[in-house]
Amino acid sequence: MGGVRKTSAADTTEAGAKHHGPHGPSDTPRSPISLPDVVRCPRCRELKARDGFYPDRSKASGFKSLCKECDKAKARRYYEQSKAAA
Ligand SMILES: [Zn+2]
Repeated sequence: MGGVRKTSAADTTEAGAKHHGPHGPSDTPRSPISLPDVVRCPRCRELKARDGFYPDRSKASGFKSLCKECDKAKARRYYEQSKAAA
């Protein structure tokens, strides 16, 4: 029985336990970024569920900023413009 404890070893153990603990910083593997359930479309200014947005991997949020309806309208307009230009 030793009266002297290795505090350094205790610190390491504690830090390791924290790091590998079940309640780590990433206990929500589904969405690393906490996003609201609804997103406001900047174009039609409507609050829509994430379901109303197309996924976009290039965005930080993982979804397009415009809702599906606005994205479709934009695509249609772009298509008509390109058609008219041709
Ligand atoms: Zn919209």
